[in-house]
Amino acid sequence: MTGPTRSTTQPPRYDLGGCTVTLVKGGSLKLDGGAMFGLIPKPLWSRTYPADDQNRIQLACNCLLVEWPGVSDRRLIIETGHGPKYGEKEQRIFAIDPARWLRPALLGLHVDPASITDVVVSHLHFDHAGGLTWERDGRLVPTFPNARVHVQRREFEDARAGFGIMTATYREDSFTPIDEIDAWRLLDGEAEIVSGVRSRPTPGHTRGHHSIVIAGRDRSLVFGGDLMPTRHHLGGPYNMAYDLFPLDNRKSKKELLAWLAARDGLLALDHELETPIVSVRPKDDWFELFPSHGL
Ligand SMILES: [Zn+2]
Repeated sequence: MTGPTRSTTQPPRYDLGGCTVTLVKGGSLKLDGGAMFGLIPKPLWSRTYPADDQNRIQLACNCLLVEWPGVSDRRLIIETGHGPKYGEKEQRIFAIDPARWLRPALLGLHVDPASITDVVVSHLHFDHAGGLTWERDGRLVPTFPNARVHVQRREFEDARAGFGIMTATYREDSFTPIDEIDAWRLLDGEAEIVSGVRSRPTPGHTRGHHSIVIAGRDRSLVFGGDLMPTRHHLGGPYNMAYDLFPLDNRKSKKELLAWLAARDGLLALDHELETPIVSVRPKDDWFELFPSHGL
């Protein structure tokens, strides 16, 4: 049985066959529209994606909760969004509401963060790993005190060394509390994370960026991370200026879209506002997307 079910209070949930995936909102932010669309001229992208008076566009931070009905010792979160640790200036620049992030969203769904056994992040930029930690009683602590945190070793080493072109997108305050509980699990390339969930390296946005493949009995769903942040980034040349290796990202994107199209897989788009989960079909020499969000 596949396909989403939805009620007024529950977020979209997908039954992949022996495994369910629930979309959880890890917050939202605004980034410069020009930077989000790299080489693409504004008259093109702004036709379908309006910018505000500061040229920023609204982005979601989509996270996934993965559960296996009948299996109580495995409950996984993919991506943690921007988290709560922002001063007034950053809140203004990024239009971040520090009260709206993954932890309160999970509590709203009656999911205890202490029940999460595994967290996977696509890469360690602030809007993906910021929700790994928060401040409680004046002290920075892990949001998921009992979870292993899975990331590619390449990404982890680059993050800790500050390898990149953006200043301060890797934030130690999201990392050191995880060091303290020795929860990092570093992956070397293609690897199984837990039974039914695999890491698929998709370098380009960063060189250690990976996508996460969730295989159900009936269908697979892939969390693509910043490989393709919104449905507006489908086209080959639609890279972000933030991508460290744009040609590599384009190759990773084409390969993943082809893989999904070949098996009717679902793709989760990390920053997409309207259709966060899509299916992929071939079209001419590229692909087209169809919303799959419980319309
Ligand atoms: Zn991002």
